[in-house]
Amino acid sequence: FFIAFEGIDGSGKSTQVKLLKEKLEAAGLKVYTTCEPTDSPMGKMIRDIFNHRIEADHRTIAALFVADRLDHLLNKTNGILKMLEEGYTVITDRYYLSSYAYQSPYMDLNWVIQANSLSAGLLRPDLNIYIDISPEVSIERINKGRSSIELYETLDNLKNVRTKYLEIFELLKEEEKILVVDGNKNPGEIATGIWNKVSSRFLE
Ligand code: C5P
Repeated sequence: FFIAFEGIDGSGKSTQVKLLKEKLEAAGLKVYTTCEPTDSPMGKMIRDIFNHRIEADHRTIAALFVADRLDHLLNKTNGILKMLEEGYTVITDRYYLSSYAYQSPYMDLNWVIQANSLSAGLLRPDLNIYIDISPEVSIERINKGRSSIELYETLDNLKNVRTKYLEIFELLKEEEKILVVDGNKNPGEIATGIWNKVSSRFLE
């Protein structure tokens, strides 16, 4: 099965990806974890834009994410589809709902959904896990933990992104399976909550 983690920057996704992987492996599953932007040359290009090493328009970024995501799915060496075929459970840190939330202020949401429909048609997550934290907490964590601030990592933007996520969940509640967890608790408690849902849904 395939799980996507979602959340604003600093929501603790990467910690939860790691903790869920450990628990699934302890239950005997083969687990492959991955993320977007990916580690491919396309993903690196996006990271270079976010870290202000190269300049690109927000609309170009939206298109780059579409391409990076297709490669994430279709790459013959380590694409998600390939890994699923090989029997791995795949967990990704971000997938197309991130684009719906992050790119829609710059591109019409319908464009973003349309442009990602190829990915959604190829593979919808069996579960999207959204870690919900307040943008104020998130910005505090980002400012403490990182030496430079990426594009999109401002309080106003993260407030907008969180609002977008919540709007999108309402809009897509028929077609997407979404679990919203309270990210303001401590990491162990959050992981236990996630594990209870995941194990009852996929392992019983
Ligand atoms: O999750 P992580 O912090 O590694 O993501 C890197 C950055 O990419 C985030 O700061 C987020 O602003 C941005 N992003 C985006 N659109 C996506 C996925 C990520 O703008 N579809």
